Amino acid sequence: MVIDSHAHLGICRVFGSNVTEEHLIRTMDKYGVDTSLVMPLPGTPNAKVTHDQINELTKKYPGRIVGMISINPHIDEAEYFEEVERCVKMGFVALKLHPFGHACPVVAPDADKVFEAARKFKIPVILHSGLGAPYTTPCAFIPRARQYPDLKIVVAHSGAYIYTNEAFVIAQECPNVYLETSWCAPHRIYELVAKFPGRVMFGSDIPEAVASELMKYRSGDLSEEALEEALGGTAKKVFNLQNR
Ligand SMILES: [Zn+2]
Repeated sequence: MVIDSHAHLGICRVFGSNVTEEHLIRTMDKYGVDTSLVMPLPGTPNAKVTHDQINELTKKYPGRIVGMISINPHIDEAEYFEEVERCVKMGFVALKLHPFGHACPVVAPDADKVFEAARKFKIPVILHSGLGAPYTTPCAFIPRARQYPDLKIVVAHSGAYIYTNEAFVIAQECPNVYLETSWCAPHRIYELVAKFPGRVMFGSDIPEAVASELMKYRSGDLSEEALEEALGGTAKKVFNLQNR
């Protein structure tokens, strides 16, 4: 069972990218990804529209696509909560903040609504890390991880190689933190898996990286059990996918 815990759909006006349904599904088929967790990119022109498009995919490809929420938090709280609730009712399983793409440090007042909404609807928070320092260094997330010890917090990209040392620090300091490893160096991924069993998960971020991110795990000396956990078991547990 391979679960890609970090995938996107649609246009990003911040980073100038676009992920199409065809590319997403074709790549999953080609490289044996059973399920992808899909969210809007931080620069989506309209998060509601992209959430609706993701919801359509969950119906078109049952069990293969699971939705995740991503909304720029610089909007009114009522509007933010309303959209989170709408998505949770559609079956979306997590809430993303991109401190760089949303231009919102995790400790900023506008980020309060992200953590409060996740707490209210009992879903994990995903925080982009890596590109975009100083907003995005994993240690910058420690105050929030400690403020919300009941929330599962997923550090996306685990610092993306250059800040992976800080992924070790936050995971060591905060037992509610989990690590997704796209853009990390393979040897650091093996170290993370060894040090934090059951807390590390595969993600691709873009269709072009599915093959290489999978191969990082498969080309190491990980045990069969550790590999199964990292490629699907951890995501299944963190995002409560058992009954899907
Ligand atoms: Zn991403």
